[in-house]
Amino acid sequence: MPGTRRSSAAEAPSAPDGAERGGGPGRRGTLCSAPVTDGTALADAADETLRPLSRARNASWWNANVEATEENARLRADAELAYSDALADRELFAAVQAARTADRGSLAQRRLDLLQDTMLPNQVPDALRSRIVELEAAVEMRFAAHRGVVGGREVDDNELKRILRSSDDPAERREAWEASKTVGAAVADDVRELARLRNEAARALGHRDWFALSLATDEMDEEKLAATLAAADRVTAEPFARWKHALDERLAARFGCETVDLRPWHYADPFFQEVPAEGGVDLDPLFEGSDVVELGKRTFDGMGIEVDGILERSDLYPRPAKCQHAFCLDVDRAGDVRVLANVVPDARWAETMLHELGHGVYDLGFDEALPWGLRRTHLVTTEATAILFGGLASQQEWLERVLGVTRGEAEELETRLRAARAADLLVFTRWVLVMNGFERALYGDPDADLDRIWWELVLRHQLVTPPEGRRAPDWAAKIHVAVAPVYYHTYLYGSIVALQLRDALAASAGGLVDRPEAGRALQRTLFAPGESVRWDRLVEQASGAPLSVDSLEREVAAA
Ligand SMILES: [Zn+2]
Repeated sequence: MPGTRRSSAAEAPSAPDGAERGGGPGRRGTLCSAPVTDGTALADAADETLRPLSRARNASWWNANVEATEENARLRADAELAYSDALADRELFAAVQAARTADRGSLAQRRLDLLQDTMLPNQVPDALRSRIVELEAAVEMRFAAHRGVVGGREVDDNELKRILRSSDDPAERREAWEASKTVGAAVADDVRELARLRNEAARALGHRDWFALSLATDEMDEEKLAATLAAADRVTAEPFARWKHALDERLAARFGCETVDLRPWHYADPFFQEVPAEGGVDLDPLFEGSDVVELGKRTFDGMGIEVDGILERSDLYPRPAKCQHAFCLDVDRAGDVRVLANVVPDARWAETMLHELGHGVYDLGFDEALPWGLRRTHLVTTEATAILFGGLASQQEWLERVLGVTRGEAEELETRLRAARAADLLVFTRWVLVMNGFERALYGDPDADLDRIWWELVLRHQLVTPPEGRRAPDWAAKIHVAVAPVYYHTYLYGSIVALQLRDALAASAGGLVDRPEAGRALQRTLFAPGESVRWDRLVEQASGAPLSVDSLEREVAAA
């Protein structure tokens, strides 16, 4: 997955996360007395109710991540519940729905559309919602507790991945791969049940199934998504087959077999979702002793974008009892934007700092006149921005101008980097095709022969030969199917839009590095509108063209 997810902080609902308790806190009286036809007044009142709850939720989320204590975990759960209670408010939801039809096409309408999408997944009936939440928690716990067995001893995921990355012993690799799937058998029945319950919830809310509901509340047109994924399939199929053929030859030589004998355990991770290390370029030596945070600041300075405020509020270095990942959080949609990171001087953290600061400058760029409810971003456009900036850390111009690598060395690296970027996109695109195709099938019929469907998709999109006679729920070993349903396509869209933005800025400003005009263009066309403009229109406005796979097609040709 490119970049770092910030879903927990974002407010895009991926599951019905709001308990319906009737009532709800805050200014319920005000909401109910607002005339239902006055969209602006209703949206204002809803903003006033949600704003402090959202802020408290974000602040508690930050605290729980910078210092994992039981007290902080409890405060976070309380704040989460208070916020989701407000989203579950039935009277407010009914008022929003009534006002929507009365006020088509205006800014007020836009605010109400987003309110409705945010609130809808929280309108699931009480009993059903509790069952979903409990089952999700149970599955997540089973994932956390489960250990595969290799060589007679229990090993964690890191050890399994280490074996698949580095072991030259096919028998050990096979054992590690099979061990990575045993969790699937342990949770498969529950994941099917989750899909049934989610479908029941979606139908109660007037949608075909959970797949359709997820897309609808995320402003994704299902037909368009299917067409775009089909196009992504078309433009990557041949370059991927070519790239994978070369990879398979190398693997066959390494493992002393024929390419037809290669099986899933010969690839470098349990799902073949990453490019094996030998296909990448190791930039770490270039970053030894560098100040990755300063490089980030220098990068944005060069584009005329100020990040000092974000850095002052951020928590950037490793510490005990702190979340080990990275994310950017807009606490109040009024300037309090922070990054959590665990920076060490290497290439990954250089990219991650640029990525997270990319989210941050987007959040700081909203037009000040926008109402609170529109001072937010769609996941596609914010991920695209973050991927765009993060990607600079492995591009020739940045390496030369910002990191100070000599021109000769940067040029020599660029050819290999371009091939590595293309391989990354190919492997990721083919993996998203598997995940999206599978989830469509899962929610279409949770009782289908999913084991067979999974391997058909893996063979077709990833060109990986299934082990002979294998009958096991290998799909259930992917934790995202259970706990982060129907979102993978968003990240593919983010990667594609990042390419479109890069190409558009190359044409209009000559690139990004040290180009303040590129910073100004992004600010004006992409950041300022917040969600006053729908994400797909915003992509068109910022990149000069609707989302298409043209940039992807050009990029993967270098693999
Ligand atoms: Zn991100």
